[in-house]
Amino acid sequence: MPLELVTLRCLKDNYAYLLHGDEGTVLIDAPEAAPILQELAARDWGLSAILLTHHHSDHVDGVAEIVKQTGAMVIGAAADAHRLPPLDLRITPGEPLEALGEPVKILDVSGHTVGHVAFHFPQSGFAFTADSLMALGCGRLFEGTPQMMWDSLARLNALPADTLICSGHDYCAGNGAFALSVDPDNQALRDRLDTVQRARMPCAPAPLSLERETNPFLRVAALRTGLGMEDASDAKVFAKLRAMKDAF
Ligand SMILES: [Zn+2]
Repeated sequence: MPLELVTLRCLKDNYAYLLHGDEGTVLIDAPEAAPILQELAARDWGLSAILLTHHHSDHVDGVAEIVKQTGAMVIGAAADAHRLPPLDLRITPGEPLEALGEPVKILDVSGHTVGHVAFHFPQSGFAFTADSLMALGCGRLFEGTPQMMWDSLARLNALPADTLICSGHDYCAGNGAFALSVDPDNQALRDRLDTVQRARMPCAPAPLSLERETNPFLRVAALRTGLGMEDASDAKVFAKLRAMKDAF
């Protein structure tokens, strides 16, 4: 049985995720405590662990209160332990982890921050990417270089096509408008935006296959000619797109 996924809106435009199975429930990121504790209570679920992707306050501010109420253990990157809430388990990309009876792959997705990790559950087909690969976009580069983020996106792009990409924010409107501005002839992108608007639904989570077709930051190969960068490296084209998005 695949794990059950619950997407929770928190703060203004953050997502947190609950994963539930026979062995319990884990939370990925804790923007604020109240909506997460309410959802757990409504479903009569306990919480065994909180997996943290990176140290920004809109991903960790709920941790202390949720731990107080549930006793959940806190898991985060060893490299970021100095700026994450107190960790019960320090993890390192590439090392094995298990949660809810499934193997979890820890990927280094530095770029937005250095030390940002993503959690891939290959059996159930989920990847929790927070502010690295996002629906129709990617995180802003606060700490890392364009090359670093490009390598992180390539790592995520190598996951199976049906992996559900569970990212950290609903930036659908802004990301969609930018995507359309650089990729106006992309019918798959227009169809995705139409569907989202018509159904008034969030655009995350979405399968990697759809991000490959519609996310400009995964469409470097298709967009390079339009940018006049036929001979530039992928990372350079990515850097150009990211800078254009910052100024958009
Ligand atoms: Zn962030």
